[in-house]
Amino acid sequence: MTNPKNKGSILVICSHSDDQVIGAGGAMAKYANEGFDIHTIILSFGESVKPYVRREIITKTRVKEAQRADKIIGGKGVTFLGLKEMHFEQDLKNRGLDKNFKKIIRELKPVKIFTHSSDDVHPDHRATFKIVLRMYKEMKLRADFYTFEVWHLLNIKKRNKPKLVVDTSATFKTKMKALKAFKSQIDLSTFYNYLVLNNFLFFLINIKDLFNGIKHNTKYAEVFYKVR
Ligand SMILES: [Zn+2]
Repeated sequence: MTNPKNKGSILVICSHSDDQVIGAGGAMAKYANEGFDIHTIILSFGESVKPYVRREIITKTRVKEAQRADKIIGGKGVTFLGLKEMHFEQDLKNRGLDKNFKKIIRELKPVKIFTHSSDDVHPDHRATFKIVLRMYKEMKLRADFYTFEVWHLLNIKKRNKPKLVVDTSATFKTKMKALKAFKSQIDLSTFYNYLVLNNFLFFLINIKDLFNGIKHNTKYAEVFYKVR
């Protein structure tokens, strides 16, 4: 029997607790099956905390959800930096977390790094890209550096950049299952919103991965762009 272990580690760095699954969940599950160690670093504790719920409660829930999703996908763990949303770079500096962040990356020795795209519509996502690119340069990393899209349905601008197409037909279901781990918003006042927004989100992801699949002759696919 062949041991598929020790293929190296893959690092996914994102802004909020579910971005990695939306953007790269299918590929992460596939790489995990192939024997890569998948690690995720999440810069904040989640998308805009609701004012009427205590912050610690939300944080705990988000961490649990992300860990549950990570298990489903076959990841090796999730690290939260807990940076302030919309102020990532500033907060990183103020709290002197740059060193810690770099130490985590150095210890993981990733062969591939995935993060947000530089032209994602969400400012936190763009900030994350900038931070990762800066670290990549400062640390003189050699890993393949790819970006994924979260809030993009189609990407016309990047057609000329080198692409990595990952056939996620076999792991698409796992991705959707992992996404369902993120359901902290369920309460009476937002239950309707939860249903509508989440079903719409699932629909969008379905369409996006399906469309990418059709374009590349597979059932489902995730497409990444190579930065370095
Ligand atoms: Zn996000």
